[in-house]
Amino acid sequence: MKKEMYNKKTVFSCEVFPPKRNDDIYDIFKTLDEIKLLNPDFISVTYGAGGSNSKKTATIAAYIQNICEVDALAHITAVGLTEDSLLSLLDELKQKRVQNVLALRGDKPRSMTEEEFEARYYRHASDLVKVIKGNSDMSIVAACYPEVHPESASMEEDIKYLKLKADLGVDSFITQMFFDNDLFYRFMDEIRKAGIDIPVHAGIMPITKTNQLGTSVSLSGSSVPKKLSNLIAKYGEDAEGMKQAGTEYAIAQVEDLIAHGVDGIHIYSMNKSDVTTDIYNAVF
Ligand code: FAD
Repeated sequence: MKKEMYNKKTVFSCEVFPPKRNDDIYDIFKTLDEIKLLNPDFISVTYGAGGSNSKKTATIAAYIQNICEVDALAHITAVGLTEDSLLSLLDELKQKRVQNVLALRGDKPRSMTEEEFEARYYRHASDLVKVIKGNSDMSIVAACYPEVHPESASMEEDIKYLKLKADLGVDSFITQMFFDNDLFYRFMDEIRKAGIDIPVHAGIMPITKTNQLGTSVSLSGSSVPKKLSNLIAKYGEDAEGMKQAGTEYAIAQVEDLIAHGVDGIHIYSMNKSDVTTDIYNAVF
């Protein structure tokens, strides 16, 4: 990512995902046209593990980069990739003038058996980082987990591999969503003690619908503090009330993070420009 963006106080970015139906691609373009007005430092676009939707990831990243004129960060997951398919994906992104990738391992897609997942060509995000570094001039971002990756035995072990990713040339991290800032601050202390000094973008997911808890949040393994579960209990049935309370919760989280000098705020927009705009306008 461009180093100059860290000259400002707090970097602002967000994430979108490719729509399932091809026909819905125009909806995401419309969302991006709206998010662009916030002048974000970058917008990331997710990648279906196992390669599903990978064409759409590249198409949307190209729209962000060339039509919105905002730096695009294209996610890439190792699961399902071989060296050939990785190199051709990098080539496609380069042709589309996309300069930044978020290198991820990915999780086992439903379509893959346990054996197929175990036999994957690239085992870890760090393997992707090595190949991308060796074959392109792309800037590379990676994922990190303030509450520890669910497969890690300990924070110490997880941080050892984060350090490996940083040493291999990753220029910043984006965190898994978290709802308790104290967990993030503890994590930051630990990674800085371990000698990881690259910027970390805090991933914030506004909870504006009760069903988000059953899907993205439970998959992420992130803990839900009592204050947030109380809000959900209070407004769960009231869609407008939930949206407002969830947005206010995210705003309070972001304000506190900025007061603590966070490098960047990365909003998991869920393809909704209105909530992202409300958060941006409240704090930036
Ligand atoms: P890794 O860095 O490989 O880590 C996975 C586990 O292996 C950890 O326990 C780690 O400690 C350990 N480990 C790491 N390196 C090594 C090593 N060299 N040797 C041994 N152990 C190691 N998924 C998608 O499918 N598509 C997306 O677009 C997507 N976007 C995401 C964006 C963000 C910001 C985040 C936080 C996650 C995203 N994910 C996405 C989910 C991600 O793919 C999963 O969390 C996955 O389980 C781990 O990916 P990783 O890149 O962190 O893996």
